[in-house]
Amino acid sequence: MIFTDSHGIGPDLAPGEAPWPVRWEDDPRCDSCLHEWESVLLRPYPARVEEAIRCRHCHTPRCGDSRDSDPCMRRRHHRGDHVLASGVRYPLGGTP
Ligand SMILES: [Zn+2]
Ligand SMILES: [Zn+2]
Repeated sequence: MIFTDSHGIGPDLAPGEAPWPVRWEDDPRCDSCLHEWESVLLRPYPARVEEAIRCRHCHTPRCGDSRDSDPCMRRRHHRGDHVLASGVRYPLGGTP
């Protein structure tokens, strides 16, 4: 089962544009924001396109990989359990 509404579709970034600030963990919004995830396409190098998932409001990156079919819906580097789009929870370092 693919959880397609785990994120929306965000912008196509300009070549070289970063999806989130280098020091995004210093922004208090990474814990206070009710994140809404979106996918963005970035081009770190010419002729290379990558997809990343970030919050459309504060640009905090999401946990896990953009290709996960049932992704964790919390931010990158969160504490406590992973919480998947399906509602499944499992501990850090464990398996769902
Ligand atoms: Zn946010
Ligand atoms: Zn997680």
